[in-house]
Amino acid sequence: MEESNLRDELFYQQKNGYDLIDLDERLKLEAYCEEYKAFLNASRTEREAVREAIRLAEAEGFVPFVRDMPLKAGDKVYKSIRGKALMLAVIGSEPLDKGANISAAHVDSPRLDLKPLPLYEDHELVYLKTHYYGGLKKYQWLTSPLELHGVVIKKNGESVDVVIGQDPEDLKLVITDLLPHLAQNQVKENASDFIKGENMNLLFGSVPYADEGKDRVKLAVLSLLRDRYGISEEDFLSAELEVVPSFPACDVGLDRSLIGGYGHDDRVCAYAELKAILELDTPRRTAVCILVDKEEIGSVGTTGMQSLAFEAFMKDLCESQGVHLRHCFENSFCLSTDVCNAFDPMYWEVSERPNRNGARLNYGLGVCKFTGVRGKSGSNDASAEVIGALRRVFADNGVVWQTAELGKVDQGGGGTVARFLSVRNIDTVDAGVPVLSMHAPWEVVAKFDCYMNYKGVLALYKDL
Ligand code: MN
Ligand code: MN
Repeated sequence: MEESNLRDELFYQQKNGYDLIDLDERLKLEAYCEEYKAFLNASRTEREAVREAIRLAEAEGFVPFVRDMPLKAGDKVYKSIRGKALMLAVIGSEPLDKGANISAAHVDSPRLDLKPLPLYEDHELVYLKTHYYGGLKKYQWLTSPLELHGVVIKKNGESVDVVIGQDPEDLKLVITDLLPHLAQNQVKENASDFIKGENMNLLFGSVPYADEGKDRVKLAVLSLLRDRYGISEEDFLSAELEVVPSFPACDVGLDRSLIGGYGHDDRVCAYAELKAILELDTPRRTAVCILVDKEEIGSVGTTGMQSLAFEAFMKDLCESQGVHLRHCFENSFCLSTDVCNAFDPMYWEVSERPNRNGARLNYGLGVCKFTGVRGKSGSNDASAEVIGALRRVFADNGVVWQTAELGKVDQGGGGTVARFLSVRNIDTVDAGVPVLSMHAPWEVVAKFDCYMNYKGVLALYKDL
């Protein structure tokens, strides 16, 4: 055998994704990414992502799942979990005790939440106090335009949607920073400490109310809030108001090959799942798409992946076919689609050298056999059999994929919802889009990888 043939036979060689697709596929990729950007811009919070996903699903014939409704092959149903998480299913031709093909992503992203009593006045300026949500580098949130999104529940039960700053004509919010001229002490401090979490306060007004009393600026701001939303200070007690960056998603790079945006983690995978399930007709195995909340703070609460809301939905589906949930779970397969870190040549030192296992931009869907910290602690660690099954499906369906790992050994680490699925006796593997500047207010992904994530989930639904 000639040496070149032997190399082809024995070496595992990865290629840049753009060397692997034709013009037709390139056009599909571009069209897909236009739709993704629109989804991301409409989904600044987990609630908005769920609302937008329901809107898109209903347009494709999905209907709300009602307990005990009869279900037949090809039926398309969804269940909103308190408006903050969403589960969708397309019923397969095989019964559910043969297993479901599941994909799971999260729709919450790092942000700043308002405190229950956020409003205060200091030296005739009014501020909103925040408590950050998820793992973020606090300094990245200073001196850039921010928006406020969320919901206020009034004492009478009325729900008021709040959106401040999204419309280009609307005002913006900001957290100020010290001028360099007076920052000689600040710049010597540790980056994680120089801005205290307690000082992440948003500038919210400066004009006093025309009277002689105290807190005149705060009164003026409250009166503007009453005019705009019909709320008082007490109504903040029962509110979820989230501060997010005010940058719409758009192309990055002169070749427009990348997308900058807030919340790629993990709405880029959420959209891939959603797009894939919306295209299904009647799959062999029932397809399930999970979009959960609270991943960034440990998958807690009723709307996180640890919640039994998932069991409830799957059990209801199983009962409609007279089969057991435990039989369904043990035969199911889950792709836990969450973003992974992209190898960044600017910060090469946190990855293995030479980079072989870390995901690169434009090399496709990143499959992460294990996550975790130190000796894989807190990881799912998919079995060889599980990865083997995925290799077959991806190869048969033209899905370009690569390995991913969260930095070099002992550098740091993290986890995803994968372990909360595998603990339920479901074969699960992590896969997702590589991201630069993950958890920053504006993250970067490669269009090629976004598209391959969608193709990967579609292949799972159709062919596993
Ligand atoms: Mn994530
Ligand atoms: Mn994250």
